[in-house]
Amino acid sequence: MTTVAFLGLGAIGRPMAARLAAASDIELAVWNRTADRARSFSAEHRARHAATPADAARGAAVVITCLPISADVERLLDGPDGLLAGFSKGAALVDCTSGDPATSRRIASRLAEHGVGFLDAPVSGGTIGAEQGTLTVMVGGDAALLDRVRPVLSAFGKKIVHCGDVGAGDALKAVNNALLAVHVWSTGEGLAALEKLGVKADVALDVINASSGRSNASMNLFPERVLTRAFPRTFRLALLDKDIGIAAGVARDQKVPAPLLQLAADLFRIAHNALGEEADHVEAVKLVEQWAGVRIGDTK
Ligand code: NDP
Repeated sequence: MTTVAFLGLGAIGRPMAARLAAASDIELAVWNRTADRARSFSAEHRARHAATPADAARGAAVVITCLPISADVERLLDGPDGLLAGFSKGAALVDCTSGDPATSRRIASRLAEHGVGFLDAPVSGGTIGAEQGTLTVMVGGDAALLDRVRPVLSAFGKKIVHCGDVGAGDALKAVNNALLAVHVWSTGEGLAALEKLGVKADVALDVINASSGRSNASMNLFPERVLTRAFPRTFRLALLDKDIGIAAGVARDQKVPAPLLQLAADLFRIAHNALGEEADHVEAVKLVEQWAGVRIGDTK
């Protein structure tokens, strides 16, 4: 049996934790800031509800966090209820937050002082991938530590890739999500223009998806979420805004001119400010429609 703790039962964390709870060789403890969510999780799944981060980490070989930003994880380290008060020497913190490299490096060095390992291990594949255990996990840090925790991560991850030193997983995740943002926005602009010209959106997508302009946005997000006007809330726009900012920051730190990433960061910041904290990332298209004065999919 491997003792695992999971902290952060949000939109993606909860189904990830459910996969761990279902693994027969894992003994799971869960903690969530809003305690009711952890209580209801342990009522439904085979998991102990921990009262504090320290309580969750106590006796755990692997502690997994999945919070909005790296700074939230860093803030959980200290104090009498903090993770450091509970960690055993030789344990590992695997942070599945889509975090930022600099904070991850700081967390790693703080933990190293206490004999605790650290991996940044953000995920992609969305809430459905988490439910199905098919997430991609991109990992930064010691490869030997990854080998040790890989069996645990495989409860929710299908493709688990070592990307480089601490922070490499964060950087790669941020770039991936910046590309997602560019695809969502630019597909929206293109379809809005075609709509005004009288080209039906489903016809346009049918052609684009058989051609070189296709993307996950055109193949899945627009048909399933925009044309249906369903806009399910699976991944908050606020979190995508944060990811593109990290990607633009990585480019800046590496002295790579990246005007397109910076523009995407600004556009999604505008959309985030306009649509609020709870809006889904695909709802950014509503701003493109507003600016264009057209609704994608209205041409019959
Ligand atoms: P949510 O906003 O749905 O959930 C956030 C979770 O973090 C909740 O459990 C929340 O607790 C907790 N939390 C928020 N702030 C703090 C804090 N300061 N201290 C302690 N706990 C806190 O986010 P997601 O689950 O969607 O995302 C989590 C991470 O995973 C993000 O970095 C995101 O970018 C990434 N991600 C998300 C994907 C998705 O499809 N949703 C896909 C891939 C990556 P409480 O219940 O109290 O609010």
